[in-house]
Amino acid sequence: MKTILLGVSLMSALILSGCQTSGATDNDTSSSLTSETSGDQSSISSETSSSAQSSIESTKELPTEQEAYRYKINPTTSVVEPIDSETNPKVALLTFDDSPDQHAVDIAKQLKTINAPAIFFVNGMYIESDEGKDKLKQIYDMGFEIGNHTQTHPNLSTISSEEQREEILKTNELIYEVTGEKPHFFRAPHGVTTETSDAIMAEEGMVSMNWTYGYDWEADYQTSEALTDIMLTTEYLNDGANLLMHDRSWTNEAVLPIAEGLVEKGYILVDPKLIETPEREE
Ligand SMILES: [Zn+2]
Repeated sequence: MKTILLGVSLMSALILSGCQTSGATDNDTSSSLTSETSGDQSSISSETSSSAQSSIESTKELPTEQEAYRYKINPTTSVVEPIDSETNPKVALLTFDDSPDQHAVDIAKQLKTINAPAIFFVNGMYIESDEGKDKLKQIYDMGFEIGNHTQTHPNLSTISSEEQREEILKTNELIYEVTGEKPHFFRAPHGVTTETSDAIMAEEGMVSMNWTYGYDWEADYQTSEALTDIMLTTEYLNDGANLLMHDRSWTNEAVLPIAEGLVEKGYILVDPKLIETPEREE
């Protein structure tokens, strides 16, 4: 318990830097949200829409039959915990934020080759174009869980309640438009949730989670070798670890060694569909 708490307090420091650089690669400002919400992270890339090749099918298939939940997200630590004592606690959850930008489809394809499940946390700004929608559809059709990471990646504590609502609900709508399934999970940009975002989670039957560790935004870990090593040897790798990664080139290169290394260490890569959410309760 002490280790987890230590991890959490360190993460509090890391959270401030988490995702901070994600807006750096974004450069278009055609966002419809007010300027103060996007700040220096303004980031809509609508110019990609002209290169879209495949149309998105609007067929809305019903999700396959829900298996019984076996895990839940600890609301304080974001650890993935077994619901009952019969369930194996030695699991790790793979998550990829700021998707689907340049690398998420490749990341998904690699994970699919070893049947490793994951959550891709999507920014709505990336799926406004047909090309972005096609990327999301590919990831969803491979069986991955799609989460909400807001429309334009603002720090929610710096914008109005109404703007927060728009940030979250617009992304839900865009995801639903492509997948026919409403997101069950939310990750707040920079790990900063608010009373408003908590209220929206309750209204929408969604579960919010931060993470227990991640490194791919830190300068020291932006090679596949360094990232793979730290992700597998960090002291924060414990039962129920909730791993934060991003749509980045070095993460794309490291994702298979990381996933395989976790399995070699005895971790089950947990299927997000086994994680309890209110929406899916019967
Ligand atoms: Zn992010």
